[in-house]
Amino acid sequence: MTSWYAMAANAERTGATLAAGRLAAEASARSRNVEEQLRSYERRIEFLSLICRAMWSFIEAEKGMTLADLQHRIDDLDQLDGKTDNRLRYEPTKCQQCGNTYHRKHYHCLYCGALRPEGDLTPFDRV
Ligand SMILES: [Zn+2]
Repeated sequence: MTSWYAMAANAERTGATLAAGRLAAEASARSRNVEEQLRSYERRIEFLSLICRAMWSFIEAEKGMTLADLQHRIDDLDQLDGKTDNRLRYEPTKCQQCGNTYHRKHYHCLYCGALRPEGDLTPFDRV
């Protein structure tokens, strides 16, 4: 004969197992979503790279520039933010009206609505 305590403990273990199974299924689904997102970003980067190559082929053919010229320009631009790290990334700017940090892709402060100073955001910052 099974005691009440043994049955309660068994039910508790079964409940915990079901909860753990649900959590594992949710984690697995989230992981698949992140993988799909990553693949989407990779495809976008590959397409952007293809566009850059196409644009470069025009410049190379029309202007007679070389890959060394391109590398020099990349190096010059890379250093504009003070770091040589193959990125051009400026520190986030603060809103002159409220002091909060501007979202890097918005022309207005998300907190107070103030317009960013002219020239603070270029079309390249929106990529
Ligand atoms: Zn503001």
